[in-house]
Amino acid sequence: MERRAFFLKAGLAGLLVGTEGIVSCTQPRLYGDKNFYINKGVTMIPKLKLSSDRIIKETVGLRPFRESGPRVEKIELGSKTIVHNYGHGGSGWSLSWGTGNQARELVKTTPYKEVALLGCGTVGIATATLLQESGYKVTIYTKDVPPNVTSNLATGTWSPSSRVCLPEKGEAYKDKWEDACRYSFKRMQMSLGLNDIIEWGDEYRVMKNEPGPRNNPGSEVFHLEDLAPDWKRLHDKDHPFKADYVVRKSNMIFNIPSYLNFHLNNFLLRGGKVKIQPITSLDDIDALPEKLVVNCMGLGAKEIFNDEEMYPISGQLACLVPQTEVNYKLATNGAYFITRKDGIYLGGTGKVNSWDTTPDRSETEKWVSILSDLMKEMKG
Ligand SMILES: Cc1cc2nc3c(=O)[nH]c(=O)nc-3n(C[C@H](O)[C@H](O)[C@H](O)COP(=O)(O)OP(=O)(O)OC[C@H]3O[C@@H](n4cnc5c(N)ncnc54)[C@H](O)[C@@H]3O)c2cc1C
Repeated sequence: MERRAFFLKAGLAGLLVGTEGIVSCTQPRLYGDKNFYINKGVTMIPKLKLSSDRIIKETVGLRPFRESGPRVEKIELGSKTIVHNYGHGGSGWSLSWGTGNQARELVKTTPYKEVALLGCGTVGIATATLLQESGYKVTIYTKDVPPNVTSNLATGTWSPSSRVCLPEKGEAYKDKWEDACRYSFKRMQMSLGLNDIIEWGDEYRVMKNEPGPRNNPGSEVFHLEDLAPDWKRLHDKDHPFKADYVVRKSNMIFNIPSYLNFHLNNFLLRGGKVKIQPITSLDDIDALPEKLVVNCMGLGAKEIFNDEEMYPISGQLACLVPQTEVNYKLATNGAYFITRKDGIYLGGTGKVNSWDTTPDRSETEKWVSILSDLMKEMKG
């Protein structure tokens, strides 16, 4: 149970070959020789360039958090059959294909072949794609399309259990979560190599001391041992940080703009339609021509369906000028960064029930300061 998601990833940019590792050209190179391959000094990873003038944008996104977990459910409402698929908290990117598949299974229990799908975030696009693959004619009705959706304001990493439900309500959601998580993970691997919309890289967590278990609402509630590479504690010699506790694992990064663009374009190329059409009440849904409606409106579903157990958990990010040589993710006390193609994103906030989307500059300055200190102290 449980583990914090905000660790980061780090692509090993280069291994420092210690003096023992430098082989004279008169000596034969034995490629099986561990002295040639195994790092004898500290691992060298490139440093971030951190200063306030490198900040190119700041955003605050509202995670659509539901206390009992995402709602994937079929209901009858007036003349419509509604399949809900919303409320993914801090895990919507990660679980999108999995809950999309669960929604598709519910759609298959209906007699309809034409689907009105509400919402065009990562969950809506994944669900629409899966329905198309099963032969459904899908029209997306939405208030906004990327980049003007919450999904564009995410960190963009595999974190399937981040703020996905309240820990005390977690047991009831666990099996559905595991099913969604496993399906999503498999599906994500199919996008590898497609213009780098998804990449694997290293993620570090750097702490002065060993951390205790977390129990704040919505933190990582579940963990699957066998799905993805797990954290490994690093010996002092194997990392460049001035810290007693450093762990590393491989993790997936989603390059958000190109990922959404790729999948939305594919949906359109296969004949899907997108209509910009806000839903303001249940009457608007009733007026849609399709009998079957799949609801992927994220936080927008709260008001329309009067969902009292859903509220936002806001999260601020600050984007720095991209640095192509930096290809890892890292979390340390109170701050993290992730390196994507479109920039280096710093973050660290999670304000429960906050609807405020105004960036707080002092938060950004705090992260820049924490991460600058860490970089200054790096060995090598
Ligand atoms: C700071 C931050 C970091 C995050 N990091 C990660 C991460 O690393 N990994 C991860 O897995 N998840 C992460 N998340 C969570 C993830 O971003 C969300 O769970 C996910 O974006 C939800 O997707 P969605 O498609 O349900 O919602 P949205 O992206 O909000 O899409 C909803 C769609 O519905 C439409 N809509 C809404 N209301 C209406 C209406 N009334 N009428 C018509 N259309 C409507 C919107 O226009 C939009 O198109 C993060 C979130 C934040 C804020």
